[in-house]
Amino acid sequence: AGTGKFFVGGNWKCNGSKESITKLVSDLNSATLEPDVDVVVAPPFVYLDMVKNSLTDRIEISAQNSWISKGGAFTGEISVEQLKDIGCKWVILGHSERRHVIGETDQFIGKKAAYALNQGLGVIACIGELLEEREAGKTFDVCFKQLKAYADAIPSWDAVVIAYEPVWAIGTGKVATPQQAQEVHVACRDWLKKNVSPEVASKTRIIYGGSVNGSNCAELAKQEDIDGFLVGGASLKGPEFAIIVNSVT
Ligand code: PEP
Repeated sequence: AGTGKFFVGGNWKCNGSKESITKLVSDLNSATLEPDVDVVVAPPFVYLDMVKNSLTDRIEISAQNSWISKGGAFTGEISVEQLKDIGCKWVILGHSERRHVIGETDQFIGKKAAYALNQGLGVIACIGELLEEREAGKTFDVCFKQLKAYADAIPSWDAVVIAYEPVWAIGTGKVATPQQAQEVHVACRDWLKKNVSPEVASKTRIIYGGSVNGSNCAELAKQEDIDGFLVGGASLKGPEFAIIVNSVT
């Protein structure tokens, strides 16, 4: 972990029911969490309000997506204003499932991030390469291009946490090695230094996501440029998520 406050997010994706989420919230409420860690969970939209009203204030709430502009005639979308109305503090944008399954582009994601930040939400800005891009030696190019799309659109990096999530590691059980993750985090920090500012490069937290669990988190957390985690599958189990939160060294 670096010098910034450790940040751990749980991305529940499209999982859970009233029953299982009630149990997860109760497990999280009774978990012991290291005080010096920002902890955020992202339930599916339909359960956001329920979770906000039952979860300890120690843990902040994130959405998994938000609309690109003010709400209105956009069937099926959820606006940033609505998220703020229910007490949501963060939104995950640019997740690989939205890029590669839904087809969102770098530019569309950049605009969404800009809108959310302008309205006062924090943004967990995801980036990451596909397996074939890594194998073709394009990992840095892909990550830099995705970073540039955010940089070109957003007003400031103050409320941004970058999540480096190699697509081949998401939901596959194939976690990046601490060295693989550290290498990309350093490269992204260097990109920020050259293309945004040295201040933003040193202040912006870069978290890792992709098959993080209770057993591999400690080794990853030792890396100097890994400032936390974005956790999918393992965030659905309260006790394991707490282990990951508490892995900060
Ligand atoms: C994610 O979806 O952000 C993620 C990292 O998933 P998992 O931990 O399940 O690989």
